[in-house]
Amino acid sequence: MIDHKEKGTEKNSESLNFIETQIEEDLRQGKNNGKVYTRFPPEPNGYLHIGHAKSICLNFGLAEKYHGKCNLRFDDTNPEKEEEEYVQSIKEDVRWLGFRWEGEPKFASDYFDRLYQWAIVIIKKGKAYVDDQPAAVIAAQRGTPTEPGIKSPYRNRAVEENLRLFEEMKAGKYKDGAKVLRAKIDMASPNMHMRDPVMYRIMHKDHHRTGNQWCIYPMYDFAHGQSDYIEGITHSICTLEFEVHRPLYEWFLDQIVEGVYRPRQIEFARLNLSYTVMSKRKLLELVEKKIVDGWDDPRMPTISGLRRRGFTPESIRNFADRIGVAKRDNVIDVSLLEHSLREDLNLRAPRVMVVLKPLKVVITNYPEGKTEDLETINNPEDETMGIRKIPFTREIFIEKNDFMEDPPKKFFRLSPGKEVRLKSAYIIRCDEVIKNSKGHITELHCTYDPESKSGSGQNRKVKGTLHWVNASSAIEVTVNLYDRLFNNPDPAGHKDKDFKEFLNPDSLSVLKGCKAEPSLAQAQPLEHFQFQRLGYFTADPDSQPGNLIFNRTVPLRDIWARAMQKTGKKN
Ligand code: ATP
Ligand code: MG
Repeated sequence: MIDHKEKGTEKNSESLNFIETQIEEDLRQGKNNGKVYTRFPPEPNGYLHIGHAKSICLNFGLAEKYHGKCNLRFDDTNPEKEEEEYVQSIKEDVRWLGFRWEGEPKFASDYFDRLYQWAIVIIKKGKAYVDDQPAAVIAAQRGTPTEPGIKSPYRNRAVEENLRLFEEMKAGKYKDGAKVLRAKIDMASPNMHMRDPVMYRIMHKDHHRTGNQWCIYPMYDFAHGQSDYIEGITHSICTLEFEVHRPLYEWFLDQIVEGVYRPRQIEFARLNLSYTVMSKRKLLELVEKKIVDGWDDPRMPTISGLRRRGFTPESIRNFADRIGVAKRDNVIDVSLLEHSLREDLNLRAPRVMVVLKPLKVVITNYPEGKTEDLETINNPEDETMGIRKIPFTREIFIEKNDFMEDPPKKFFRLSPGKEVRLKSAYIIRCDEVIKNSKGHITELHCTYDPESKSGSGQNRKVKGTLHWVNASSAIEVTVNLYDRLFNNPDPAGHKDKDFKEFLNPDSLSVLKGCKAEPSLAQAQPLEHFQFQRLGYFTADPDSQPGNLIFNRTVPLRDIWARAMQKTGKKN
């Protein structure tokens, strides 16, 4: 059994997580007039992944729980890496997860004018200066956490000169990197982020929304806190690495705004998953090097990849709920995500029969030309899903590996002289194995027990039950057997090895000519099924009549845990 209570999850006796506890405390104190306003603030520089899904569920979930609002805001301060394609995909993914943002999506770039004006306010207070030194020199002067940094020779420029230079930077007078605007805070601060951080840099680069209007762009740190402030965000929830940025966000706001209202930043541990890389840079590398088939490759941990793989929004939301929010970094086992998926698909996926590697069976005592329509239930978990009819004739297909000529002792599937039940049909016995000139098995000749399907015969017990597909009405489909993309629990965690060394060479096998029961001809893109005895499968978005493609979403059981048990390793 999987332990759903992850260590590090902080819940108090009323079962509130630590963020909810803080929010409720704020509400009790009457802060923000009792309003809860959150936001999900992605940078549009890649597709969203399962880690972002956690943040989405958290931010939108809190807004729902406390009858507040949640913004979708694109933190688009870096035109070098940002693209409209990412904006569109992010909107689609948030909607697909089942969340609705407040009003129109917001963009940090909407606030460029205000941020510029605020920078001028800070310069006028003598608390920002234009530095002419190159980036490398500025970086070298920052010092280390234990040694103070070196003050820039430009640090004491006069306000008037700073105003003029900043204005000229904006007007395009200087090349990229020739100057930056820096906050004048404390070069000896133990917090490196307070050592005169850069506020603005010169980038002659078109922005996906503001075009060529600007050639200076605010740093993320100079935009993020103010964007929250402008939007009236009450609880600004972010991942732990921003804890050390918090004093800087507060410093900026203290320079430029009055009043008591401030967004309250609360940090939580980002989601890490075993067997998964989650950095956008690494995911981009997999896409650019064509190691995967795009951002929505079903092996990617992106939301679009999970969708294509066959994940449901409910399974992802349940997963996010289960893992809760922690204050300390931890790694969640990917099998917990797969478990949430199985649990959901078990309830909603109709059962069907598909044979991946077909072996023909001729039932020699079944009348030629006869067809029976046998009834079978669509989902034993949900009787409202009803029954369907599956044709049965003299020739059927079973799975090649459900037959063994020389079986070991505990092989309860088909072998010469032995009986098995065909799911929702008859018991058959194998009489003869037909081989070609090379000695390969081409078909089996079996006889069936006509009394074994109804009446007292339907209770006759045999050890094995096989899935099967009727030969004459079977449709041919392609099946993509997806597996984990990495075969190491921590692919990105090896100092001397590139994460790509841990790619699982068997993460995809494509099976053509699989035989499916005829009901699957109507399968719609992204429709889920349980292929009996094989796992959950989902029709690919590119699947269409005549070229049906199914992706294996997840096997019925955790095959990785079993493989690990066999080799004696802990998963
Ligand atoms: P980068 O900043 O390196 O591009 P990022 O993953 O932080 O990558 P953002 O677009 O800034 O990407 O993230 C948007 C929001 O999602 C942020 O609030 C961030 O804290 C949150 N987030 C990102 N990764 C995770 C994760 N693994 N678990 C939980 N939240 C995450
Ligand atoms: Mg980020």
